[in-house]
Amino acid sequence: MRLLLVEDNARLSELVCRALEADGFAVDRAATLLAAEEFLDAAKYDLILLDLGLPDGDGLALVRTLRRRSVAVPIMVMTARDGLDDRIAGLDLGADDYLVKPFATAELAARCRALLRRPGGILGNVLVAGNLSFDTAGRDARVAEIHLDLPPRELSLLEMLMRRAGQVVARAQLENGLYSLGQEVTPNALEAAISRLRRRLAAAGADVVLHTAHGIGYALMPMRKGGER
Ligand code: CA
Repeated sequence: MRLLLVEDNARLSELVCRALEADGFAVDRAATLLAAEEFLDAAKYDLILLDLGLPDGDGLALVRTLRRRSVAVPIMVMTARDGLDDRIAGLDLGADDYLVKPFATAELAARCRALLRRPGGILGNVLVAGNLSFDTAGRDARVAEIHLDLPPRELSLLEMLMRRAGQVVARAQLENGLYSLGQEVTPNALEAAISRLRRRLAAAGADVVLHTAHGIGYALMPMRKGGER
């Protein structure tokens, strides 16, 4: 497992690096946001450990940038800021976990392993399926980084399908989700919303499709090669 450690305190960086290497991680170290971006352009990481107070800016900016680009790598924020507002801001932007300094390196290693056990596709607040991403905190759906302007009903449907991407989600469950928006749901409201969503995804160039499991429900699936819908 390859890990990028972004920390400007040389002593802490050294300490964390040694502990994680002893635990079997391969660790690259960056002391600035700029250096972190260079590492991220050059290599693929399984996990990012991120300090927030960096000499050239706030680590949260990096969280925001990565999630905007639909980069789903898990991010653990390490910071001395223990205010509740800062934690919420970090998690809303798509960080996956939060460790307040000072911490025991054994706890850090354990939390890193826990993050790496999570299934792919659902990381932080951003759901990712193919070139489609959905920021559940900002209610922002994007295809290849282009914002999709969807009405609340279609957004809600898309979120339910993305949370279970690759699996059939039962009609009743989807209808429940629509009812919770307080809108009137007629017998064919689900079909109508699905077909509108399908058209919007296709028009935006999404590489996922809404598959109909007749009589059962719907599934968000990767598009087969050749563009079959
Ligand atoms: Ca710092």
